[in-house]
Formats: sequence, C-alpha cells, structure tokens
Amino acid sequence: MEENRKKNDSRKEGKTSKTSGLCPVAKKCGGCQYIDMPYKEQLAKKQKYVEQLLKGFGKVNRIIGMEQPEYYRNKVHAVYDFHKGKGIVSGIYQENSHDVVSVDSCLLENRKADAIIVSIRELAKSFKIKTYNEDTGYGLLRHVLVRVGHTTGQIMVVLVLGSPILPSKKNFVGALCKLHPEITTIVVNVNNKKTSMVLGEKEQVIYGKGYIEDVLCGRTFRISPKSFYQVNSVQTEKLYHKAIEYARLTGRETVIDAYCGIGTIGLAAASEAKKVIGVELNKDAVRDAVINARINQIKNADFYQNDAGRFMVQLAKSQTQVDVVFMDPPRSGSTEEFMDALLRLNPSRIVYISCNPDTLARDLKYLTGASRGQKAGCENGKGKDRGNGMVNGYRVMEITPVDMFPFTECIETICILSQISQ
Ligand code: SAH
Repeated sequence: MEENRKKNDSRKEGKTSKTSGLCPVAKKCGGCQYIDMPYKEQLAKKQKYVEQLLKGFGKVNRIIGMEQPEYYRNKVHAVYDFHKGKGIVSGIYQENSHDVVSVDSCLLENRKADAIIVSIRELAKSFKIKTYNEDTGYGLLRHVLVRVGHTTGQIMVVLVLGSPILPSKKNFVGALCKLHPEITTIVVNVNNKKTSMVLGEKEQVIYGKGYIEDVLCGRTFRISPKSFYQVNSVQTEKLYHKAIEYARLTGRETVIDAYCGIGTIGLAAASEAKKVIGVELNKDAVRDAVINARINQIKNADFYQNDAGRFMVQLAKSQTQVDVVFMDPPRSGSTEEFMDALLRLNPSRIVYISCNPDTLARDLKYLTGASRGQKAGCENGKGKDRGNGMVNGYRVMEITPVDMFPFTECIETICILSQISQ
C-alpha cells in the first residue's frame, strides 16, 4: 500500500512543469507535482479541488496547512541499484518506470533518514555488498526503509534484501551505528519476489528491539516495520484532534475504529468513550495496537484482525450497539459491504478520514443515499426506513481538508456525518 510508493494520483489537472530550482530530480521523480508553487497557492488549489468535489455534500471548512511544510516525511524509502560508471546508486524510481534516479536529499523527507540512506550506500561499497537486480534476481541490497519517531527521535532502519544473509552483519551494524548513533533498531527484511511491494514477509531483527515508539496526542505508540503509521506527524495530531472533536464523545459511547492501523485514533479517543473496538487487516499492526493499549494503560479498547467489511457485517448480525464509527480506509476507499453493514449498525455519527477525495466522494454518495436510492429502495435517496426498522440516512455536517502531503497533489480530508433524525 504505502510501501508501494504510489505517488501519483489519477488527477492530472493542474500539474506544474516540474522543472524546479528546489530539486534537481523533480522532473524525473514526479512525486512533487506542486514543487514550484508557493505553499499558500498549494493550499488554495487543494481547497478548491475539495470544494468542487464535495461542496454538494456539506460545508467545506478551510484547509489546515503546515507552518513549515518541508521535510515532513517520517518514513523514507530508497531503492538501490548499480549503474555502470557510477557504481551503487540509491534513490527513487523514475516516474512510471523501474529506472532508479539517484537522490541524496529530498524536500519532503526527514533529513536524518536521507543521510542514513546515503551512508548505507557508501557502506555497501566498502563492504562489497552487491545491489539486487530485479531482472535476474541476483545481488542482495534491494531497498532501505527508514522510520523516525517524530517526538522520540527513535530511528528504525529496515534493510530489504534479496536473500536472508547479510555478510559481516556485526561489522556492518557497528559501522552504521557509529555513523548514526541515533539509530535504535535495524531489521533485515527478505524480499525475493518480483513485485512492486517494498517489503517481503520474512523479518529478522539484527539490532535493537525491532520497532520504534513515537508519541502522538499524548499517547505512546509502538510501530513495527510493516505497520502503517501516518507519514506526517505534525499534521496527524491536528487530524486526530479534529476526528475526536467531530466524534463529540461523552464517555458513554461504543466506538468503532475501522481500518485502525496500530490503533492510534481509537486509543487517542478511548478516554472519552465507554468502549473502543478496532479492526485492521494487517496482523503486525493489530499486534502493535493491542500492545499500544497496554503501554498506555487503556483497558476499554479491543482490537481485531479482520477485513473491516467482514467484521462490520458480523457486528451488524450480532446487533452490537454502536454509537460512533471512525473509518480511515486506504486510497481505494471503503466497500459497499462495509457501508451496508455500517448503515445497519446505524451509529449516531460517522467520522470518515480519507486520503483520496475521489473515493471519498463516491462513498459519501453511497452513505448519504444519493447512489443507494434504487438499490436500497429508499425514497428520494433520503435514506428512509427500509421497512426493517433501520434508519439508513446520513447527512454530511462538515468537511475539513488537512494538508498531510505538502508539495504533492495528495489531499487528506476528514468529514463528519450525522444520522438524519426521523
Ligand atoms: N487509522 C490508521 C490507519 C489508516 S491507513 C492511522 O491513522 O494510522 C489504512 C489502514 O487500513 C492500513 O493500516 C491498512 O492496513 C488497513 N486496511 C486496508 N485494507 C483493509 C481492510 N480491507 N480491512 C481492514 N483494514 C484494512
């Protein structure tokens, strides 16, 4: 998903020339569609996009921007390759290809992470470690993933190798940690498949605990290599505060945190709810979420590993009383299975967090009844009782875009839906 590094949205509208003074590889990379645009203009453009797309559903508030929009990515990925004449290079895939463009520093990325990636390139040369060749399957070093805890400063380095054995492992770890004593853990991940995914299944911790911790909204969160964690910590705090504000919790609610990752939203809200139930597909993330509840001494939160849609159907079947649902699906958005069960569960409020306004628009249409009318037999798409006692109509009360990805055209949006009262 995130590891797939899919940087380009389907929206081509408004692309800049991408020949930038700020970045020598902007054109080849294609990741920063707005690199030559002043930050204020970037915000205005995103605001306009969300308004055009979503204003028919409800009020669009002003986008929440950053004060300092550079170097925000706490997770940095680099691919390694061998170029004749140059030797080992590290950087990014050229837009729409598998050619590697050499990058030493990036306007979006944490600077320590970038420095570590360069050091690994130099060490690979001196340790005579060969880079992995995607066509032949020969070689070792494939990718490096660096994660930095925004508050704690803890750093995790994941070395993605084509096979499990890193020669002179001890010396390599020693040399890398000497150059960057801030590194708290190093993990070897094995990926020998022909795939665009960065991480493989197998993992071996070769230094430290195998995870980092970070502090967000006053809670401590453990993050494993394969777990999702929002890449822009400064904006994530603002996003989660908005989510909790929209939920209007009083301490009496049963709350679902769907697509919960390592449990961040649910655990940040738990002290204001009666009970939190989290669901997430990634088993490592669920394990982190369970431990995160324990670390923060939160006793009213349970986490389940399941497909969110299937889980919601089970909840609806067992007629579980649900008051508030947070949903934060991947870019592809939610599913009709999930949303049908959500409508049957009939919570008072739904807080929808989205990293793709286009799938958000599609799902809002469904949840508000506009695209469900005929299928569900609703009158005027207003979501009337289906004859089985279910109120299935929601209205979007507010929409707030949050700029989680400055210099790119990606947009995060949060919105609150309330039950239409009978
Ligand atoms: N709310 C979390 C994670 C959001 S990202 C946070 O703010 O950090 C979306 C999450 O949905 C990822 O953790 C991904 O693993 C998970 N996911 C993707 N498809 C899913 C599905 N079908 N069912 C449950 N979780 C899913």
